[in-house]
Amino acid sequence: NIRVRYAPSPTGHLHIGNARTALFNYLFARHNKGKFIIRIEDTDTKRNIADGERSQLDNLKWLGLDWDEGPDVGGDFGPYRQSERKDIYVKLIQQLLDEGKAYKSYKTEDELEADREAQKAKKIMPHYEYEYKGMSADEIKQAQADAEAKGLQPVVRFRVPDETYAWHDLVKGDISFDANTIGGDFVIQKRDGMPTYNFAVVVDDHLMKISHVFRGDDHVANTPKQLMIYEAFGWEAPQFGHMSLIINTETGKKLSKRDESVLQFIEQYRELGYLPDAMLNFIVLLGWSPVGEDEIFTRKEFIKMYDENRLSKSPAAFDGKKLEWINNQYMKNADEDAVFDLALPQLIEAGLLEKQPNAEKLEWTRKLISIFKREISYAREIVPLAQPFFEERADIDDDARAEMQEETALTVIEEFYQRIQKLDYLNTVQILKTIKSIQKDTKIKGRKLWMPIRIAVTHEMHGPELPESIELIGYEQTLKYLKQMID
Ligand code: GLU
Repeated sequence: NIRVRYAPSPTGHLHIGNARTALFNYLFARHNKGKFIIRIEDTDTKRNIADGERSQLDNLKWLGLDWDEGPDVGGDFGPYRQSERKDIYVKLIQQLLDEGKAYKSYKTEDELEADREAQKAKKIMPHYEYEYKGMSADEIKQAQADAEAKGLQPVVRFRVPDETYAWHDLVKGDISFDANTIGGDFVIQKRDGMPTYNFAVVVDDHLMKISHVFRGDDHVANTPKQLMIYEAFGWEAPQFGHMSLIINTETGKKLSKRDESVLQFIEQYRELGYLPDAMLNFIVLLGWSPVGEDEIFTRKEFIKMYDENRLSKSPAAFDGKKLEWINNQYMKNADEDAVFDLALPQLIEAGLLEKQPNAEKLEWTRKLISIFKREISYAREIVPLAQPFFEERADIDDDARAEMQEETALTVIEEFYQRIQKLDYLNTVQILKTIKSIQKDTKIKGRKLWMPIRIAVTHEMHGPELPESIELIGYEQTLKYLKQMID
């Protein structure tokens, strides 16, 4: 039975790297008809942020992911928040204490810090120095009772066996760690009574019957610690796969949350008006590749062809330009309504439109958005492009003015002005017809015909389709601009 999980700590918003972890677990589950589970790892209470869990789940949903079990949907293996599972951990920690596989440690933070300083000075790897060295069982008991009497709060440490821990990593291949390289007996229960990550994750993965764990490369060094705990309980460990890290192509360095050269949170892309399917497509390609050259696929197709053997060992390149390109591909193919829904809030937020435009204004905006649909990579890009349609047009620049020196330019504009004045209304079809009729009657064509009209009405030499642009600028405004040019 395949059961995988995404286990976010609600210490921040959904980051691209986390989204990737979630997505690869999700694809693996869906491809294999297994279960995908969400578990909130919120035992580091000091680091949790108020909005963390909501942001994680909300943004995963936005990307189109769904899950079979989790804090919001429930399931048979709950609760799905570690903070609600404390009793389970406490009981199991007690079991390890009773079996002598763990012990209470009373070294204070100051003493631990002093040890680290001394180790640094001796240039040896920082590690926990066993505080009961050479003591008999009775002496240890006495030392602990004395510490208790002083009111010291203990942590519980796991007694690290002197062994080698090895596993076959689904991404990286064979990995092994000598237990004596992991820094000594490690903490499984903190002074506040909460379990540490390495302990809780093992207990939960076991009790939730997790079969495979795909997670970030940064957890490789935790895996031997977790294997020791599985061993101590006599539980079978899941299979592990550690995904390659992500490199920012801008800086050539590992993508870190402090790196400001690129946006890293799903929420930020959402705010800019990226399409969720495009985001998902981009993220799947971070460290995984389909067979062949094509890179654009739907979620369904990714599920169908997902193969964990194609997870890459080498670092994944985060290329913002590629993300823009992918999003632009999706924009071009998206239906008008989807692009409208993304772009409308951008125009409102930019203050170009009021919050609740009337029906007529909405219809106009729909047309405006549709003429820019192919040009934008993400919805916010529409703001500067659309802006001229909301304001009085700026003065004509020198290049455009020079263009208007063309001898037939004024004729074209006068003809256009005369002819559209006679119309009952101005729409794309009428505008096109009018321009064609000028061509027929004056024999002026091509650039000589179109450019003067474009410049006169839009005040620019480039822009979207001219008939559509003129319709959007509107009858009255168009006549006004033409007249200004003639006078
Ligand atoms: N809560 C851990 C994290 O956010 C999960 C790691 C794991 O998947 O084991 O990195």
